[in-house]
Amino acid sequence: MSGRWVEVANGVYARRYAELDQTLGLVVGDTHCLVIDTGTDEVHGASMAAAVRFVTPLPWIVVITHAHFDHFFGTAAFLPASVIAHERCRSVILAEGERQRRVWSAKYRSDGKAEQAERLATAQLVAPTEVLTSSVRLDLGGRTVTLVHPGPAHTDHDVFVHVPDVDVVFSGDLVEQGAPPSVGPDSYVSDWPAALDRILDLRPAVVVPGHGDPVDAEFVRLQRNELARRR
Ligand SMILES: [Zn+2]
Repeated sequence: MSGRWVEVANGVYARRYAELDQTLGLVVGDTHCLVIDTGTDEVHGASMAAAVRFVTPLPWIVVITHAHFDHFFGTAAFLPASVIAHERCRSVILAEGERQRRVWSAKYRSDGKAEQAERLATAQLVAPTEVLTSSVRLDLGGRTVTLVHPGPAHTDHDVFVHVPDVDVVFSGDLVEQGAPPSVGPDSYVSDWPAALDRILDLRPAVVVPGHGDPVDAEFVRLQRNELARRR
């Protein structure tokens, strides 16, 4: 599974993939690196892990932005590791992960993507090892990052990653570029704009979405206003 790196700031990278127009993330400190989401299956996760090793040999910490299958079914490729997520993310992965696997494997199969269906069907389901409820700071050596749950939005347990020394935010699916925000039955549209305000309050120079290319704050503001009109 091929992807390409986009360096959005010093030691801060987005990894772009054609499949699902997905974007994974990497923040490199002096002692640790942080991997943001692990991809759709173990093959995808392993390709991300190998790509990270081209950038840095440092030990990694993994954060899962939310419990949608394409963000966490690659986690096994990063073990052993600390895998951090919101506590509800852990609960949803444990309660809903197998159902998501069945639904998406069937969808891939009916779309004629048998190989992807098989990869997802055989991926190991890994639950986060550490949980947060509101926010947590991580020291990566020489730079700290903050993981923030901004309240219900795309799901009830989204986490974004703020890298303050370079004004970068990894938003998970709170923001999408190239498509409208993904509103599902587990989304909270009326609360979503307030969650994006939490990102905008940080005055980010770059926001890396869960799907699509990195964007600026103005893009996030427009998407926020679009969501506010929908509620
Ligand atoms: Zn999602």
